[in-house]
Amino acid sequence: MKHTLLILGGAGYIGSHTVAELVGRGCEVVVADNLEKGHRAAVHPKAAFREGDIRDATFMDALFSEFGVDCVIHFAAYSLVGESVSDPLKYYDNNVGGTRAALSAMAKHGVRNIVFSSSAAVYGEPEEVPIPEGARLHPQSPYGASKLTMEQMMAWCARAYGMRYVSLRYFNACGALPGGLIGEDHAPETHLIPNALYAALGKSPALEIYGDDYPTKDGTCVRDYIHVCDLARAHALAAQYLMDGGQSDIFNLGSGEGFTVKEILLAAQEVAGRPIPHKFVGRRAGDPAKLVASNGKADRALGFSPGITSIRDMIASAWAWHAGHPAGFAGYMPDW
Ligand code: UDP
Repeated sequence: MKHTLLILGGAGYIGSHTVAELVGRGCEVVVADNLEKGHRAAVHPKAAFREGDIRDATFMDALFSEFGVDCVIHFAAYSLVGESVSDPLKYYDNNVGGTRAALSAMAKHGVRNIVFSSSAAVYGEPEEVPIPEGARLHPQSPYGASKLTMEQMMAWCARAYGMRYVSLRYFNACGALPGGLIGEDHAPETHLIPNALYAALGKSPALEIYGDDYPTKDGTCVRDYIHVCDLARAHALAAQYLMDGGQSDIFNLGSGEGFTVKEILLAAQEVAGRPIPHKFVGRRAGDPAKLVASNGKADRALGFSPGITSIRDMIASAWAWHAGHPAGFAGYMPDW
C-alpha cells in the first residue's frame, strides 16, 4: 500500500528536496506551506499542494480530513539565528506555536508519526566535538531554543497521545538537486556557500567572512556540511522507520567532517573557476567555533550515511543551481 506523507513547509529549501525524494520513491505526497518563505515552483508537480498556515486550526483540520495521512514531516519554521535574537517572540509564535498547532491537529485526527526538522543549534557551544546526540543541550539563540522546545513538546505529546517521532538535528545543509533543477533561494540569504557563490556571480560585491580569530586551524569557524539530497533521503528513511513501528528517537545528520570558512571559500573558487572577492569582518554573534556531528547513530538505526561526501561535489551542485538561475525561483518554473 502506498503511504501518504504530509510535508509541512514542503515549499522551502530542505522541504522541497524531500518532496522530490518522496515522489521519486512513489509515495503520495501532500505539501502544506504558507509561501511566506517557500516557493510554489519548488514543489514537485506530482505532490498535492495546499496553501495555508500550520497555526490555522481550520486549515489543518481540512488537511487531515481531506487526506489519510500516515506520517507528517515538519519543516515549517523560521530559521534565521540573528533575526531570532532581535525578535524572539516571532520564533516562539511560528516555531513553537506552529508545532503546537500541528501536534494538536495530529492528535485530533489520530495521526501518530512525525519526523521533525531540528538543528545542531540545540547544542550551542559544544563541550566535545564531534557532538553526540547525548551532548549537553544549551542553545545560544531563540532559534535554537525554539527547536529544543519543539523537540520536548513532541516527546511529551508522544507519551500522552501515543505518537512516535524522529527528530533530525541537521548540521549545515548545502547543495541542490543534481542538474540544478531546484535549489536554495532565501531572502535574505545568510548562509556561507550561497553567499560565496553570489559573490562569485557578482550578485554581491564580496563575501564577508565573520571572524578570523577563532581557536581553529586557520582562525575561521569549522562547520559540518551535508548535502540537501542526503538530508532528503534521511527524512524518507526516518518516515519509513516510524511507519515500520520504530521507536521515537533523535539523530544527528552531518558528514562527520569539518571545514573552515576559508576552506569553503577555496573550494568555491575552484568550483566557480574564478577568484571570489572577500573581506574579513567581525565575528557574528552566537557562532560557535566548531560544530561537527558524531553521525554513527543515524547509520545504526536508520541505515543512513551521507552519499555525497566531497565538499567540492556539494558546492558544485549549488553552483549549477545558482549559476543557472541567478534570480532563484523568480520567473522560473522547473521542467520536471
Ligand atoms: N559565514 C560567513 N559569511 C557569511 C555566512 C556565513 O563567514 O556570509 C560563516 C559563519 O560565521 C559560520 C559559517 O560561515 O561560521 C557557516 O554559517 P552559515 O550561516 O552558513 O550556517 P550556520 O553554521 O550558522 O548554521
